[in-house]
Amino acid sequence: MAQILDGKKLASRIEEEVRKEVFAFVQAHGMSPCLAAILVGDDPRSALYVRNKARAAGRVGIRSETFHLPAQTTQAELLDVVETLSGREDVHGILPQMPLPPHIDPAAVFERIDPRKDVDGLSPYNAGRLALGRAQLVPCTPQGILALIHETGIDLRGAHAVVVGRSNLVGKPAAQLLLMADATVTVCHSRTKDLPEHTRLADVLVVAAGRPRLVTAEMVKPGAVVIDVGIHREGDRWVGDVDFEGVREVAGWITPVPGGVGPMTIAMLLKNTLQAARLQITRTVSVR
Ligand code: NAD
Repeated sequence: MAQILDGKKLASRIEEEVRKEVFAFVQAHGMSPCLAAILVGDDPRSALYVRNKARAAGRVGIRSETFHLPAQTTQAELLDVVETLSGREDVHGILPQMPLPPHIDPAAVFERIDPRKDVDGLSPYNAGRLALGRAQLVPCTPQGILALIHETGIDLRGAHAVVVGRSNLVGKPAAQLLLMADATVTVCHSRTKDLPEHTRLADVLVVAAGRPRLVTAEMVKPGAVVIDVGIHREGDRWVGDVDFEGVREVAGWITPVPGGVGPMTIAMLLKNTLQAARLQITRTVSVR
């Protein structure tokens, strides 16, 4: 029976560290780090995520502002808001809540964010630095995934890590972080021919496919570390991309849904906001 990787517990430990560091930052610089979240449209789940992030920021002493724009906001209007926030000295982190409405190109939005304020690490500058192995602001969810994997004590050097999903938000950056940790990395995606053939070889299996219960017990190597990124509502309960009940019989470690990757994403956002504020104080990045 797998051990449960408790993301809630680890996230609250990280929050506590960030809270102390934010306190020291305020003492040193006479101002709080500030996170600006941008919510476009009325998706209740996105609104909930933004509220949770603002609440978490408040718990650690990070100031937050939420800009709620109507669903019909044009790309040009959104880019104006991003531009204004990029220019504001009292705003240190900018977070457009994903997904954006279909008429808006997320790449254009992230290109417009000052890279020092790009707390989701999705701008070309930060994505490029990560690809070069010189990461600065790393996407929150993949950063949380790596922290969970490290909690198990597994030695990633030479371990076989399989990532299911290749999105810019999760799969790709998670694979890059695993590479940086010296794992041997396989990335699977919707066109992968025989998914179980790959997943069965994984010492570490990260599943971010957005498909409920895609990964079943027969697809998992006994003793593997299984990180379930997916989150889906089924009736009155949440399920992940992994069949939790079956896979926990085989895996060595497994994240629950909810209470696994989700809380880690928020903890890493707080960490990134503090780091972004530090970058702006020390002005180590001059690129726009
Ligand atoms: P996405 O839709 O952008 O990407 C999904 C990826 O999975 C794609 O690269 C696709 O090729 C691959 N894929 C789809 N079906 C597949 C299949 N049958 N076999 C193999 N690969 C397949 O999604 P995303 O933004 O990367 O998010 C993935 C999941 O993680 C979603 O459920 C999302 O809600 C969740 N998520 C959770 C958090 C969190 O904090 N818990 C954060 C981000 C995303």
